[in-house]
Amino acid sequence: MNNKDNQNRTLPKTHPRYQSLKYRHLIIKGMKNLVVAQAGLIAHGRGECFDYILGEKTNGPAKKAIKAAVAMLLLAKKPVISVNGNTAALVPKELVRLSNTINAPLEINLFYQKKGRTEAIRKVLVDAGAKDILGIDEDNRTTLDNLESNRRFVDVAGIYQGDCILVPLEDGDRSEALKKIGKKVIAVDLNPISRTAIWANITIVDNIVRALPEMSEVAEELKKIEKEQLNEIVNGFNNQKNIQDVLDLIKDYIDSQKEDAFKSLQT
Ligand code: ATP
Ligand code: MG
Repeated sequence: MNNKDNQNRTLPKTHPRYQSLKYRHLIIKGMKNLVVAQAGLIAHGRGECFDYILGEKTNGPAKKAIKAAVAMLLLAKKPVISVNGNTAALVPKELVRLSNTINAPLEINLFYQKKGRTEAIRKVLVDAGAKDILGIDEDNRTTLDNLESNRRFVDVAGIYQGDCILVPLEDGDRSEALKKIGKKVIAVDLNPISRTAIWANITIVDNIVRALPEMSEVAEELKKIEKEQLNEIVNGFNNQKNIQDVLDLIKDYIDSQKEDAFKSLQT
């Protein structure tokens, strides 16, 4: 039995947690292929936990944040999409689609460096249709001075010069560092109170597997409108208020579960 057969047998589509299990399998496969770091598995689990208490769907505040984020990316002179292992393992095609739609390059940027990892991620992105990928050529590498982690290594043609950086699954240190050197930061993070979420200019509290396709859809629409209107969307967005709205949603969801979680026992 090959691996795929094995996975099909152990992952029936009728399983009530099929979607969640499917993405877990992608993360595990990514780890075996060097794409995902071991710590990436734990990060994924933390994300799953927040997704659970958000009802595993794109919420209203996330939709607002997505619209503002896309407007900000379309207004940017040099937007860049930062790619880490988990994102590449979960949504490679959606990364390429968004990159093409908003005309922003993909830059591989890793917290955990390991021989062969960048190459493994590059391959996943190329297989998904990516043409131009930054963060690969060591000659084009420079550092962000105010940061100590491996995330400080950036591409001169990408994050270094970029004015608006989309950072799905970012580490808080770098969000803070990017912000402090004047970059606009857009985060996708299921934890509404991570340092990344708090430091970003715009925080999309949603799973990247749902947020990225939604961003491409919204971009197709917003590309048709005037700059002035895009500015209005960005200026009308308040990140702190939006995160507070997400926290209210989590409270409401947990309250509703006091009854709803037990409904299936009554049938
Ligand atoms: P921070 O460094 O910002 O304070 P952290 O140290 O708590 O955050 P990290 O491990 O640095 O967390 O980053 C992982 C983050 O990614 C977590 O906040 C987790 O909720 C989030 N996350 C994991 N998987 C997903 C996903 N599929 N979609 C969106 N967010 C996710
Ligand atoms: Mg962190």
